[in-house]
Amino acid sequence: MDFSLKQIAELLQNSSTIIITAHVHPDGDCLGSMLALNEYLSSRGKSVKMVLDDEVPALYNFLPGYETIGKPTTKIISADLLVVLDASDIERIGKVKEHVNAPILNIDHHISNTKFADYWYINSQSAATGEIILELLYLLNAKMTPTIATCLYTAIATDCGFFRYANTSVQTLRYAADLMEFGANPNSISEYMETKPLESILTLAKVLETLELHHHGKIATITVSPDTLDTLDSTEGFINYPRIIEGVEIAIMFKIMNEGTIRISFRSKTVDVSKLAFSFGGGGHIRAAGCAIIGKIEDVQKKVLSSAIKQLQLAETLL
Ligand code: 5GP
Ligand code: MN
Ligand code: MN
Repeated sequence: MDFSLKQIAELLQNSSTIIITAHVHPDGDCLGSMLALNEYLSSRGKSVKMVLDDEVPALYNFLPGYETIGKPTTKIISADLLVVLDASDIERIGKVKEHVNAPILNIDHHISNTKFADYWYINSQSAATGEIILELLYLLNAKMTPTIATCLYTAIATDCGFFRYANTSVQTLRYAADLMEFGANPNSISEYMETKPLESILTLAKVLETLELHHHGKIATITVSPDTLDTLDSTEGFINYPRIIEGVEIAIMFKIMNEGTIRISFRSKTVDVSKLAFSFGGGGHIRAAGCAIIGKIEDVQKKVLSSAIKQLQLAETLL
């Protein structure tokens, strides 16, 4: 049985000690959603802690309260509730799953969600988990502060490509307008997000040299090497370059991590890449998904490309 937003609101109201977490390789949606929910629950006198099994990329250092996000330790801590945001399976929260002993509430918008939690609210129609948090705060009659507004605006805007992607709905734009009224400043948020260290732009130029087109120009790939990653805080936005090439249907970024893992990002115009990512143990949305595969880069590229081509051919026969 699925849970209603009202049941989720009651669950939060009835919990005193709450731990909030989200997925590793954090993005604007998971960080903004964590910080906004933390701000509200703390204002209600609850004992709230945020933990994340990853670094917060410097790109998000403008979000109020980001420095209070802690890391999981080997010590096991108990709480009334562990809230898992923007994560479609339990593996996505990393070591937090061993660190915290509590019933799990999962709030998410991924179509690939595995319903792993004790309680869940999943709406794959929502452009961002931040939209669901806003709906929850409305239901709870929360006082909307500029901090909450900034965090939720960032959550929503980053997950819909600043209102350009197909997941942008009428509701998304209305929520953005509400958040601006509550004190979010869209101009300064996008300035913060767009401003990059020189190193990042120079690295992007190097990464674009790895660009390859496959399957009659319908698939574009880029590859990021481990030494590139050493000098970089985030590869956020790199995948957009192969994505916007005329004729490209699926864009793929391969990130070769130091420990032999290849992290893969998929973007598509129409094909369902969440299925593709899911088949490799990952997940995501129809047009934006990801996974991690252990193996040699050449083997992984071959395997993933052949699956992507199959997915494209399947979509083409359905047209
Ligand atoms: P990105 O390519 O920006 O890292 O991720 C795109 C989307 O796919 C995001 O919604 C992200 O949560 C999801 N995603 C990326 N990597 C993984 C993964 O390894 N597992 C799952 N379940 N989802 C992922
Ligand atoms: Mn996310
Ligand atoms: Mn999201």
